[in-house]
Amino acid sequence: MKPMDFVWSDGEILDNQKGGISFNQGLNYGAAIYEGIRFYKTSKCPAVFRLNEHIDRFLYSAKVLRMNLSFSKEELISGVKNGIIKNQLQEGYIRPLAFYSEPKMGINILDGKVQCLILAWPWEKREPKQVRLFTTSWKRSSPDSIDFKAKIAGYYGNNLLGFLEARENGFDEPLFLDRNNFITEGAVNNIFFVKDNILYTPTAKNILNGITRQSIIEIAKDLKIETKQKNLDLNFARGADEIFLTGTGVELEVVQEIKGIFQNKSEPLVTEKVASYYRKVARGEVPKYHHWLTYVS
Ligand code: PMP
Repeated sequence: MKPMDFVWSDGEILDNQKGGISFNQGLNYGAAIYEGIRFYKTSKCPAVFRLNEHIDRFLYSAKVLRMNLSFSKEELISGVKNGIIKNQLQEGYIRPLAFYSEPKMGINILDGKVQCLILAWPWEKREPKQVRLFTTSWKRSSPDSIDFKAKIAGYYGNNLLGFLEARENGFDEPLFLDRNNFITEGAVNNIFFVKDNILYTPTAKNILNGITRQSIIEIAKDLKIETKQKNLDLNFARGADEIFLTGTGVELEVVQEIKGIFQNKSEPLVTEKVASYYRKVARGEVPKYHHWLTYVS
């Protein structure tokens, strides 16, 4: 479909005869996929953490949305590396993003053109903060509504509603329950509970099974810390010793409070132990996990 010649934009009529006004099915229907990836300074050179797994998830998301990406896994990996090299970055965040890019009306995305971007930002160390969670009244989408293994922008409508409710109640982030009132995850993070030196985390059924979550479960074994994946409710959260969130961006983030349910009273020692080991693993300081790193030189 030819774009309109003139478009009303923020109160002005703009000339769009050459196109260029952002309107596409990606924006309109959330027909977009993305990843969030970290890379860290290591003793050798910058290294991307679990790049293979992130690109595999990106390709899976593309498949679910029937996107013709026209780039192979190898090409995307070299796109990520080039983004780091060209921007002369040492440590930062990468966002591969693909969206249906034609200025088309209607929901038929089949055979639509796709634009694929790889963005890279510097991300220096930041002070760890403790987060306060609000149990949102919006229930998490269920696995019979969406494919949780894909990371599709359109899903985040649910996450945004919870986020807004949490912020409007004076809290940092939402905590989502499923329709059976089991705990699922945050808006963009998975959740873990510490109880008697054991980690507990909701099963992968109703969540995005984060790459950080999977990494934590794996590396905790080295610290002789067992992880149990179970259905967990707010009553369980009430009795937890420590709670933390995980995600590529935050790594591990201590939960200070869940409104009316949990209050962190002491030093979260287990969380700190796991967080510090994770930081070492991600920065190439633990040889056993060097295969999780893609060096960029
Ligand atoms: N859950 C949701 C809904 C997310 O958006 C994210 C961020 N990708 C996560 C969990 C954490 O995933 P990861 O550890 O792969 O960053």
